[in-house]
Amino acid sequence: MIEEVRNLVADVREQVAYLQELGVDSFDVALTDAPLIGSAPERPQAQVAPPQVIPTPIVKAPPPKIEIEAPPRKVSAGARLASLPSLKKRATASLKPETVNTAVNEMTEMTSAAASANEQAIFGDISGLPDSNETMEQIWADIGNCTRCPLHEGRTQIVQTVGNYQSDLMFIGEAPGADEDAKGEPFVGRAGQLLNKIIEAIGMKREEVCIGNINRCRPPGNRQPTLPEAHTCKPFLLREIAVIRPKVIVVMGNTALHNLLDTKVGITRMRGQFHDYYGVKVMPTFHPAYLLRDPSKKREVWDDLKKVRDYLESVRAT
Ligand code: SF4
Repeated sequence: MIEEVRNLVADVREQVAYLQELGVDSFDVALTDAPLIGSAPERPQAQVAPPQVIPTPIVKAPPPKIEIEAPPRKVSAGARLASLPSLKKRATASLKPETVNTAVNEMTEMTSAAASANEQAIFGDISGLPDSNETMEQIWADIGNCTRCPLHEGRTQIVQTVGNYQSDLMFIGEAPGADEDAKGEPFVGRAGQLLNKIIEAIGMKREEVCIGNINRCRPPGNRQPTLPEAHTCKPFLLREIAVIRPKVIVVMGNTALHNLLDTKVGITRMRGQFHDYYGVKVMPTFHPAYLLRDPSKKREVWDDLKKVRDYLESVRAT
């Protein structure tokens, strides 16, 4: 008997669970229809609510996803640095000759102060345009068979300043090229021929002006002289300027500009206006070799040289 009751209860529970799975949450069982104890057990007739009243089954929200923080990935030091917003990209290393030259110049800049001190020790106080009791020949004798900088190794000959040493106009370039190295005279190649035309354009002749360079020996491959090379040779030119005492110096290109005026400002910004070298007017302009590569710049050079011509005419008139 007890066993039958247990089975009956188990059946009822099973039915209730089944109906709950179907969404039925209430039902009535008529007690009068309940089977009598002892009679054959009958399954209770569940009164299922009509479909329209079946409540919408409650859909349980899925359990919230628990974000499990991933363990930090191993990131290389390079990747971390590259991800920093302010980190600048490193310049790609280049083996271009001009880049190497720039790097060499930067590396040797620190030695320029020492070179200047050396320059003063050798040539005395050249902070002003001093009265000179030298002659050009004496300066050249001092230069001699110069080996003071590495440029002597590749030269054919030293290229001295030429022209009229009493001229009121002096042109200064960078260093001899192949033609100048072969002939022993500055500005005799294609750039020199163009310079001759520029001089003639302002009403003068080549032999009436002075023409020189910062360096007197040809740099290998026509590269730009390094700062130590320029600083080693420049004092000879300064002594010549003190002898010649021009009214105007035209510096052609960046090397001449930077070394005479001790500036790092480029020729494009400095050209077109007079600057001062211890009382001497200095007009920076483009190098004739640059004009051969970019003839459109001739207009600027002509404008610069007209100012030189006008200034010289005003000085001569007084
Ligand atoms: S470039 Fe000037 S300093 Fe250098 S070896 Fe020639 S003359 Fe001497």
